[in-house]
Amino acid sequence: MRPDVTDHAFDVAVVGGGPAGLMAAETVARAGKSVAVFEKMPTFGRKFLMAGRGGLNLTHSEDFERFVGRYGARAGALAPMLAAFPPKDLVAWAEGLGQPTFVGASGRVFPKAMKASPLLRAWLARLEGLGVQLRTRAEWMGWGPDGGLLINGEVVRARAVVLALGGASWAKLGSDAAWVPTLEGEGGAVAPFRAANCGFDVAWRDLFRERFAGEPLKNLALRHGERVARGDAMVAGYGLEGGAVYALAASLRDAVEAEGRATLMIDLRPDLPVEVLERRLRGPRGGQSLANFLRKAVKLSPVEINLLREAHGLDLPSEPAVLAAAIKAAPIVLTGVQPLERAISAAGGVTFESLDGLTLKGRPDVILAGEMLDWEAPTGGYLLQACFATGVAAGKVALERLEHEIPLS
Ligand SMILES: Cc1cc2nc3c(=O)[nH]c(=O)nc-3n(C[C@H](O)[C@H](O)[C@H](O)COP(=O)(O)OP(=O)(O)OC[C@H]3O[C@@H](n4cnc5c(N)ncnc54)[C@H](O)[C@@H]3O)c2cc1C
Repeated sequence: MRPDVTDHAFDVAVVGGGPAGLMAAETVARAGKSVAVFEKMPTFGRKFLMAGRGGLNLTHSEDFERFVGRYGARAGALAPMLAAFPPKDLVAWAEGLGQPTFVGASGRVFPKAMKASPLLRAWLARLEGLGVQLRTRAEWMGWGPDGGLLINGEVVRARAVVLALGGASWAKLGSDAAWVPTLEGEGGAVAPFRAANCGFDVAWRDLFRERFAGEPLKNLALRHGERVARGDAMVAGYGLEGGAVYALAASLRDAVEAEGRATLMIDLRPDLPVEVLERRLRGPRGGQSLANFLRKAVKLSPVEINLLREAHGLDLPSEPAVLAAAIKAAPIVLTGVQPLERAISAAGGVTFESLDGLTLKGRPDVILAGEMLDWEAPTGGYLLQACFATGVAAGKVALERLEHEIPLS
């Protein structure tokens, strides 16, 4: 039987009303336990809604082994949770909320609505129907003297607590990492937050910046050391951003932080072998300017031609073999990392070493989920998938805890 739900005592209290916290709450409520979600902002899921502005890339359709590999050093820690709530379950869940999905050309999965608001609306209605207490403007401030949660200064008691407080990017959407000292006080080790899936500074010439900021660069291959990413990028006033850049962002960030700079190699025509490019460039140029010739012979756009000048110098080589090689490998020097505030996600967070599974060592009633944990992944749906999967797992751990603990008196 469901225990009495008072204003201040629940089987499970979830703090943080993003995808991870709401998923933990759904998991607990489906088992018939009382659960409340405390969110400090005036509305739920603000970062989720922001993700919806880019179409809401929910997950990815590639095979599972490859999928799990995207989490790099944390693949091992996340794999069991991803296996228990894999991409196909996330798709079924979204469809169950009336949001059919489709697989885009790159294998990424999106809701057909290409936004988050209808999904979030239907989800919150489902949670209310399950009896979840949804509290906004409810800020967790730490623990009271008896171990209860301090929410807006009042003590809330719960037999298990799920913290899903988010990472540290886009703080104005709610996840501002203000909780770090409190968790460190409970023995949680927190790896410093750093920008992930972020843009990089480039010292463009003024003319290039003024003319091309906001211009897309389509179908590139980017290389940093041994790592290669295919996709699109965008020239920004400060430098470079976009999906293919984000895919290499972790290694580029580490290099810029260690050495002050990193060289990104851009292949502007990855589908054309260098010999084919060279053959086309051996065609008759006549009286055409080099820019016109490149536009016609290789279909380079003005932004691509000028990017070559940023990379190789204003006087591009005219010898076909050298020019073809220049198009296949244009070095762009990155001199800085865009701030965490503007990053799509954050690396860093509570380390898995300070947890038993998802439970804080030394606090068996405190379970963690979502981006506040120390993992990172590229864009492509991997961020949300891990937030949902750790949310489901945290809800299950909370339920196990209820089975083994005495009920609230
Ligand atoms: C511009 C942008 C685009 C993105 N696009 C995508 C995408 O297409 N695909 C994808 O997979 N990912 C995307 N992401 C990332 C994704 O949105 C996040 O990884 C995800 O929202 C994190 O979920 P979470 O539940 O862990 O944390 P959050 O969504 O950050 O939620 C944490 C919640 O906790 C609340 N909170 C924090 N502290 C307290 C407190 N003390 N008391 C009460 N509440 C508190 C916050 O207000 C917040 O609502 C995007 C992110 C951004 C910024």
